[in-house]
Formats: sequence, C-alpha cells, structure tokens
Amino acid sequence: MYQSFIGLEVHIHLLTKTKVFCGCRAAFGDEPNTNVCPVCMGYPGVLPALNEEAMRMSAVVAKALNCTLSPKTWFERKQYFYPDMPKNYQISQFASPVGVDGYVDLEFHRNKKRIRIKECHLEEDAGKMVHAGNVSLLDYNRAGTSLLEIVTEPDFEIGEEAELFLQQLRRTVRYLGVCDGNMEEGSLRCDANVSVNLRGQGLGRKVEIKNLNSSRFVKLGLNYEIVRQTEILEKGGTVKQETRLWNENRDQTESMRSKESAHDYRYFPEPDLPPFIPDAAFRAAVDASLVELPAAREARLVAELGIAEAQAAFVCEEKPLADYFEAAVAAASAELPKAEAAERVVAWLSSDVKRIMNRDGIAASAALSMKLSPARLAQLVLLIASGRISGKIAKQTLEAVFAEDADPAAVVAARGWEQITDPAVVGKAVDEVFAAEPKAVEEIAAAQPERVRSLTAYLAGKVIAATGGRADPALARRLVDERFAPRTLDIVSFGGAISGKKEGGVVVPGELADVRTAFAAEKAIGPGVRVESEHLGSFLSEEVSPAEWALLVSGLASRVAASSADSRAKTPGIVVAHGTDTLPYTAALVHWLFSRSAVPIAFAAASSAPATDAEAAALLKDAAVRALSGGAGVRAFVDGLEYPAANLKFVRVASPGFDTWNSGVPLPAAFDAAAALAELPEGEIRRRLEAATSSLAVVKIFPCMRTELFGPLVAGGCTNFILELYDTGTAPGGSSAYSLKEAIRTGREKGAAFYCTSQQEGVVDFSGYVTAHELWKEGVVPMGALTTESAYARFVAAWLVAGDEAGARSLMEEGRNA
Ligand SMILES: [Zn+2]
Repeated sequence: MYQSFIGLEVHIHLLTKTKVFCGCRAAFGDEPNTNVCPVCMGYPGVLPALNEEAMRMSAVVAKALNCTLSPKTWFERKQYFYPDMPKNYQISQFASPVGVDGYVDLEFHRNKKRIRIKECHLEEDAGKMVHAGNVSLLDYNRAGTSLLEIVTEPDFEIGEEAELFLQQLRRTVRYLGVCDGNMEEGSLRCDANVSVNLRGQGLGRKVEIKNLNSSRFVKLGLNYEIVRQTEILEKGGTVKQETRLWNENRDQTESMRSKESAHDYRYFPEPDLPPFIPDAAFRAAVDASLVELPAAREARLVAELGIAEAQAAFVCEEKPLADYFEAAVAAASAELPKAEAAERVVAWLSSDVKRIMNRDGIAASAALSMKLSPARLAQLVLLIASGRISGKIAKQTLEAVFAEDADPAAVVAARGWEQITDPAVVGKAVDEVFAAEPKAVEEIAAAQPERVRSLTAYLAGKVIAATGGRADPALARRLVDERFAPRTLDIVSFGGAISGKKEGGVVVPGELADVRTAFAAEKAIGPGVRVESEHLGSFLSEEVSPAEWALLVSGLASRVAASSADSRAKTPGIVVAHGTDTLPYTAALVHWLFSRSAVPIAFAAASSAPATDAEAAALLKDAAVRALSGGAGVRAFVDGLEYPAANLKFVRVASPGFDTWNSGVPLPAAFDAAAALAELPEGEIRRRLEAATSSLAVVKIFPCMRTELFGPLVAGGCTNFILELYDTGTAPGGSSAYSLKEAIRTGREKGAAFYCTSQQEGVVDFSGYVTAHELWKEGVVPMGALTTESAYARFVAAWLVAGDEAGARSLMEEGRNA
C-alpha cells in the first residue's frame, strides 16, 4: 500500500502600492517596463530599502496562519541567473522567515485535518518573460514586487485537500485585504511537491509541479502525479527527482528540468538591508489588521443568527458581502426579532439580489457600494414582514431600487404598490372575478376536492391580478374560499369508547381535545374544510340523561339551521362520536329529527376504546369522509362498518357488533324538525325530553308475565308503553292474569297508550295472528318494521316536535303506515 505526501509553496502578491525594496508602482496590467527604476533593475551601486507595509502584511498573514512571528528577521540573496532577474539574485528570506510553525485546520467531508505551515517568508518577485515565436520579451514591471511565500509541511494526501486549502487561503488573504487572490492573473500562485512511498516508509523522492494556476489544476495535477508515481513504484521503478509542468491542455504533468537543491542557490545575507526588528507600534498595527476570519465568522453567524451552514458559507465567501449581510440584519433587527431578520435578509441576498448582481456584473466584493445598500435591503424586508407589500411586489421594488437608486419605501409609495388588506376592497375584486368567471364558479359546486383546490387557486390568482397584484394573497384566497362556504366540519362528542381512553383495562371518558388535534389535518376531509369540535359530555353512553340528549339535539339543530340559513356557515357534515351501548336509540332519535335536513350526520363508534388518539382520529375521519361523500342523511359507522341510523340493532359485543333490521322495508317518514328545534331554547328541549322519556316504558313481554304489573307503572306516571312481543306479533290475548288484554284495557282507561314491536327481525303482520289481532282491536298501535329502539326514539322525537303528549301520539299514529 502506498502513501502520498504533498507539500505546497504558495506565493501571494501583497497589495502594497509600491514594490518591496523601491518606490516603483506595483500594479498589474500597466504598459510593460514603465514601473521600473535603477533599484529594481539591479543597477550597480543602488541601495534597496524595505517597504514596511509589505512586512506588516506578511506578519498579518503569518499570524492568521497561526505562525510564530520571528523577533528579528533579515534578508538573504538567492543566487541564480535567469533573464527575468537582472540582478542575478533575488532578495528573499532563508534563515529568518517572518513567521514559522503555524497551522490551518481543514474540514474535508466532515473530517477535520490540521495542515502544518512550515514558514512564511517575504521576497521580491521576478519579471515576466513572454515568448513570442522565436523571440522572448521581458517585462520588468513585476520585478521587485512584494511576494509572500507560504510553505506547508507535506501534510496533504490528495489533490482535493490541497484544492480546499487554497480556496480557504484565498478567502483568508482577501478577508485580510493583503492580496486579491486572483490565480489567473498570478496574484496567488502555487507550486506543489509530491512524493509517493510505501506506507510507513516516510517521504518518497520528491517531484515538484509548477504552472498550477487554478485551484482546480492543483487538484488535477496532484492526483495525476500520485497515480503516475504509484504506477512507477508498482512496476519496481524509481521516481526521478525533477520539476514537472502541468499541461492543462493534455491533463498531464510533463518533465521540465531536474531540480536544484537549496545549496545550489548559494544564499548569503543581503548586506544592503539592516535586520528588521518588530517594535510595539508594528505589533499593534499587525494586531489591528487581524479581522475575524471566514471560518470563524461562518460559525458565529450560524450560532448567533440561526442561519443554515450553506447560507453562512455563501455570505462569508467575501468579507464585503458578510459585512453587508450583518449591516442589513442589524438594520432590520430594529423592528424584527434578530433571527427572523437574518432569515429574511439571507433569503433575499442568496436569491433575487444575487441574481441581479450576477446579471449586472456586480462582484460580491462590491456589495457594500451597490445601489441596494444594506439599509435599503432591510427596508424592503420590513415592508414584506409587515404585510405592506407582497413577495411579488417586493421583486418589482427590488428592480426599481437598482434601476433608480431609490429607497424601497419611496418606490412603493410613488407607484401605489402597497398591499391591499381591506376585505371590502378585495371582496369587490372577488365579486368582479366571479361575475367574469361563471364557468369556474359553476364547476366548483360539483367538483372533486383536487379540482376544487385548483379552481379556487385559479380564482384567487384572478382576484390578485384584478387588483394589480396588490391584494394580500392570503386574504384573496380566504375570501374566495368563503364563497364556497361548506367548510366547517363539526365533531361533537357524545361520550363512548371512541372518545374515551383505556386506563388499566377500563374505559374511562376521555376528552376530545387530543382527538381533535389528530383530526385537524384537513387534507383527508376536503379542501378548505375546517374542523370544529365540541364536547357534549364526559360520560359513557349507558349513563345518558335527558339533559345530555337535549345538548346533542340542540347542538345539532343549531348547526343544521345555521348551515341552511347562511351558505357561508354551511357545514359539509357533522360527526358525532358516540358509544355503542345506546347507539341504536340515539342514532334513531337523530334519524327521526334530522335525516330530512341537507346536512349529512355521521355517528362514529368503536366497539372498544381505540388504543391511541391517532386511531380514534382515523375512525372519526373515516366516518367523516364517508358521510360527506354520501350526501344528506344520518348514518352510523361502527368500527369502520356503515349502517343506516334507523333500525340499528345491537347483536354482539365482538365486531361487527351491529346489524340492521328490515333493511329495504319502507320506514315511517322522518320529521323535518331541524328548523323548529333550532328555535327552541335548550331548556325547553330538555323539558320535553324529560316529559317524553318519563312517560315511556319499554316492556318486554315474556311467558308467565303477570299483567297486573302494569298497574303500578301507570300509577307512577307511565302513560306510554312500547310492548315488545314474543314473536312476529304473538302475545297472550285472553283474559287471565297472564293476558295483556286486561292490562291494556285498564291502562287505556287511565289514559295510557300502547305501541307494539317484535322481538324478532321481520315485518309484523298482525292479520295472521289471533292474539295480536286482538291487541290491535284493543287499541295497541303496531310499529310495523321498526325495532323497539327505533319506535322508542320515534315517540321521543314526536314529542319533541309536537311539544306535548297528545301531539306525539297523533304523530305516532300518522307515521305508522308510512
Ligand atoms: Zn523600482
């Protein structure tokens, strides 16, 4: 297994105004050989003088790279002959670099790695040779400019690490304001040395690579070289110590020359420059130049403002952009919480503002001087946050700010772009759009939920357009939704396991609040459907009292009536959470009273308490969805199975626990009671329920039953009896102590009424049965195909509608053959 070692030598051009040892202008791109003088041209007898600004910048970089600054530095002459350096030597530092023993921490794919910095030393750059055909031209403008060389230890292993280091270094020197970091123009140049060796054997034979003038070429060149050297070693060969060039056109390194060793340069101290000893003023100037570096700033912005890491990286890429961002956040924080201000500012900066900057060729480094100042971006953000303009208008405003160099608030005011939040004004636009779009409006009434959603969005868009884009979009949407009104689903809890909880194996009454939360996800119900719920009782349904039924009846009546009176309050349905015990009674009662109203009502019950609120919500939701899709009427859903509400019969405890009797046989018509009951105070409903139920007794007729038992019941106030007969209508009809005939005769003398039902499933046909026929002759009202529970509920419903006993009896007679 082979191991690779990479060390970098990075040269950065310091942004000093003049060259490092003379007063010539240091500038890129000037007419060739115009920025030269006897010193930088190396005339005999001239004296160089150190540019202290170059020394300050060097020390700032060294400190930012965590180097130790040398207490005393001097310069050496590095001897070599080449036409780009007319002195035949380069003034550099050999024995006493500006800074030594530093480090940089890299984070590469979440792995932290420390790269050691061997040293940073200051030197002068050489001139530039331009080869044209068979002549070579020389430009000495660059000769003598300040160059800082940063040398790393061979701590990189792959090209990607070196690329990342260079990107990070580039950002750092730009933050410090000492180099423009431009690799294409040579302001930041990189040579690399690479060696490969068997793992654990230390460095191999070093190859230097030059001409790496972008961080990408550094990565490609190094990775190419690692592969090349590894292949040589694998074949048993030896890597030649040499200097190679990266050929960017052929994506490979090519041999240039064999490498000199340090002793070839014959360094010796520069006699014309005194040693440099940093004093307190110099050290203070260096410290004052050390700004917060990009990595630290990124971490701080994430921690302080809660923006995402990627956003922080974007903002911190350039110091002026980071300064811009923080200034805008500070301005917007005057009226917004800091985190919200940051979130809004970074969102605009990284999208629309960035797009305009790219389009208009505004570099991030010029952010602070663009027409959209930090204060103006803050103003724009505040206009949106306060709801005064919409996001769409904000984009137009942004363009106007760039185009006109104006404040966002002034742009909005001058053009009348403020958002319209007055429901009356937006409502007028809704009227116009509805008049202009009859087809869409008509289609919504019959459309499926998905289609309704897209049609209402379409209409809301038209409303916004009708106001010139100024209507508050949320308001427009709400006003359109309201026109299609049937949007509030009511859930009322009437006790029972479905709204209860299991505690230690026992079902206790629960609160609907938890279920309501789980139910609140509207999607499953339909577009724009809101869910409201009301808890009508914390009891298990076997404990029902007239007062509780009154609450339910009154609650349903007012909801149904409100829905019919004002289409905007129209409910798509009502779900009643109910227990199973009394479900056949309550469901039938509601059936008789409300099944002729236009509002679907669904009873939802569970044979055992749902284990979780989510399960209960799922059952309620299922009942809701199916009730809403089934049209008007009252239905019951037990454990997800659907039943009609009338003639519901409890069969067994296990699921399915219910059955419906006589399905398909016409039942008496329901009362159209909703409107009348909505007018009644709940107290009056309760009074009628108490009167009806306390007058009623259900008597199951059984063999050997002594009919004199009816006497005490009648004496105690029971005046209405539901008699449940043995079979399809048979019962004793003689005149013994065990015959019903005497009881009925006596009861009727005291004003009692009798209704009969069958214990068995089936339509009662009294004509075929002698005893039943006898009872009928005695005045017992046969309840046809109704179950006892439904007959009982019908009598109660009749009393509620009629208001008294006589009226109830009359309604019972009317309905029996319907
Ligand atoms: Zn000069």
